[in-house]
Order: sequence, then C-alpha cells, then structure tokens
Amino acid sequence: MGNFYDETAARLNKALMYCDDTKAVVVGEKTLGAVGGFFKNLFNDSKAVVVADKTTFEIAGRQVVNELAASGIEVETPFIYDVPHMHAEMSLVDALKPRLAATDAIAVAVGSGTINDLSKYASSLVERPYMVCGTAASMDGYTSFGASIEYNECKQTFSCPAPRGVLVDMDVVCKAPQKMNAAGFADLIAKIPAGADWIIADLLGTEPIDSIAWSLVQDSLRDWVSNPEGVAAGDRKALTSLIEGLIMSGLAMQKAKTSRTASGAEHQFSHLWDNQRHTYNGEAPSHGFKVGIGTISTSALYERILASWTEATFDYAIAHADENFRSWDIIEKELEDHFGTTGLYETVKRECRKKYVEPQELKRRLALFRDSWNELKPKLQAQLMPASEIQQIIHKAAAPSIPEEIGIERERLHKTYRLAQQLRYRYNVLDWTHDLGQWSEMVDALFLPGGFWAK
Ligand SMILES: [Zn+2]
Repeated sequence: MGNFYDETAARLNKALMYCDDTKAVVVGEKTLGAVGGFFKNLFNDSKAVVVADKTTFEIAGRQVVNELAASGIEVETPFIYDVPHMHAEMSLVDALKPRLAATDAIAVAVGSGTINDLSKYASSLVERPYMVCGTAASMDGYTSFGASIEYNECKQTFSCPAPRGVLVDMDVVCKAPQKMNAAGFADLIAKIPAGADWIIADLLGTEPIDSIAWSLVQDSLRDWVSNPEGVAAGDRKALTSLIEGLIMSGLAMQKAKTSRTASGAEHQFSHLWDNQRHTYNGEAPSHGFKVGIGTISTSALYERILASWTEATFDYAIAHADENFRSWDIIEKELEDHFGTTGLYETVKRECRKKYVEPQELKRRLALFRDSWNELKPKLQAQLMPASEIQQIIHKAAAPSIPEEIGIERERLHKTYRLAQQLRYRYNVLDWTHDLGQWSEMVDALFLPGGFWAK
C-alpha cells in the first residue's frame, strides 16, 4: 500500500459499492485541479453552476469555476449566497431553486454543511443530481441522503438523495477554521455511544444492525479519532482520517438507508437544542459542538449504568413494572408540559406514541435484557469509552467539552436528558434507563455530588 491517501481511497471505493446515490469520492491534495475530469466522468457534457457563499467562493469556488471552464465544461454564473450568520433554512433553498429550475446545469456545491444541504435539497426539488467540493471536515452530511433544513422554526430532515460525487481537497480542509474541523471530530466520535445505542436497539429488534453499514463506521472508528491534537493543529494525516470517517459515516447511511448508523441519543441532545433555537454569544453552536456535549452526556450515563446494573436490576424492574408503569395519559400530559408551547408538540407525541408499550410488553423487554445481560454488558463495554476519556479527547481536538462552553448550564443539561428522551422513536440509552425505572438513580445522580456532571 502507498501513502495514506491511497489507503483512504481504497477504503472509500470499497464502501461506494454499497451505495446507490454516490458514485465517486476523491480525497487528496490539489484535487480541485482535477475537478473538470471528475465532473465529466459523472455528468458527461452537462453544464455546471457553482453554488457557494462568499467565503467558500474565495477559498475554492473561483478555482472550481476556472478549472471546470478549462476542461471545456460550460459554466454558468456562480450562485453565491451573501447572508451573514448563514444556516440551512428553507428561504435559502427557495432562493436557489428557481435558479436551478431556469437551467439544466448541474449544481457543484462548494462549501461544507450548509451549502451542501441547500444544494442537495434544491437539486432534488428540480430532480437533478449534484456534486459537492467539501471545504471543511465539519460534519458527516457530505455523503448522507436527506438534508437538515430549518422550516417553520423547526430543524427538519427533508428526504433527498446524496450527491453523485464528493471531491475533497485537503489543501483547502487543512486551512479551514480550527473550530469547523473540531466540530467534525465531535460528530465522528459520537459514533461510539451511537453504536452502543444501536446494539441495544438491535437486541430489542426495533432496529436490527446492518452488519455492512456497521463495519463501515465502526471498524476504523478508533483509528479515525486517535489523533485529536493533530486535528486541532491542522495536521494533514489526522484531517484525512477525520474526513474519511465522516464520508464513510454518510456512505454507511446510504447503505443502511437509515441514519441509525451514525446517530443515537447524543444527536437528540443536539436536535433538541436546535429546536429550542439555542444560541450562545449570538450564534447557534455548530452541529458537531452540540453533538460532542451529547456524546459526553450519553457516555456518562452508559458508564454509570455499566458500573451499577446487574441481572437483579432487571428483576427488580420487572417486579415493579406494574406500579411504576406510566400510562399514555400521564406521558401525554408530560409532553404537553414540556413541548405544548413549541412547534414540536405533535411530532413528539407521534414519536412517543410509537415507542409506547403496555406493561406486558415492557416486562418482556426487561426479561430479554436480563437474559442477555452476560453477553450484552461486555459488548457495550467494548464499544464504549469512559466519559472522562471521551471528554479529554474532544477537548484535545479543540471542541467544547463542558456544556457551559456552548452556553448550556448544568440545570438545563439535566432537563435535556429528559426532553431528548421524548424527542424521537429511535430506541437508545435514555429509553432504556426510562424503561427500567432508573431515571433518578442514573440520570439525576449524574448531577449530584460525586456524579459526572457535579460541579
Ligand atoms: Zn451528526
């Protein structure tokens, strides 16, 4: 095997075999210089239109336009967003869509999360493929299907295909702001507790593990997150590992046709703060920064669980299942208290109803966990990392590692555990804790003296 770029390329190309949407991924140095050939391989004689914002146009977009033109591709006037504090919202899709509808040119997104999501969704609305030149290792959305866009004051995921091609020039990524690559690092290390959540959902049978998609994300995960200092310092090899992991996570979502491969309860912390429109110092913290705090939060919960639960814990929960049972009326009332005044109320009601079970079924599940405990516990231990270790790694990557760094006070974090549990159907460690009637022993105790989040 040659250099680390070749090794990354070999692994990515292997993963592409499982994907329907994405046909080509290139990660390397000076790759922008080859964007013309890359485009032609994917789209033949189509015209191109570069989509960027003012910053990404300067750092890469202008070169992309010139390279495409030099390869004989007809290039339209670029579409450049000029919006301060830009984030993916529907009005920005609405701005791009007519421009695409008026032509048959292929969008070449030049940017990271926001530009990619806007181009992805707008292209799908005109039923056209697109490609992206990634400018930072900031999130795992380059190769995922679906676009995360704010609509009616709620961040929502809109269904749309992943890009046909992804081209990453490491010369650009290495110069990206440190905080962007740090955010991607936190989004990647999140796959550690997310994997544990998938293990418990798999055991329950609600979302069985897709072994190929699992391997794509989990087999090299420890390597990808092994050099946080390098990520913070803009080291080429560390950032190539990071971008490989992020791209691979998106490809795994394409393979499994679910985001379960790349997200668990830790992402629900982030989604909740998105929907609360949380800002800190006048700006919404990045997806990765919120996910990073969620990752430490769920890792701390897992750690406490694995240190204290035994088969007897499940027996106790089964014996008390009837008296601890929370009927749908009680849950609905609580959802109204928590979300009644927000745009999320109907969504959380629908999601919670899907995972609501009667005492009989709850006892069956608890017995299943008890009977599997001897295999499940070591499996989870092998998957997870101690919360303090994850916290240190995230800190070394220059991402926030305590909630206050993104403007979340301890009390609010404590409440977030509960609200995040109610956000989504997807079974995870929060549901597990709830089903065992262990909320105060596990979650509340994290905030008491001696607990992980005690100040
Ligand atoms: Zn994410």
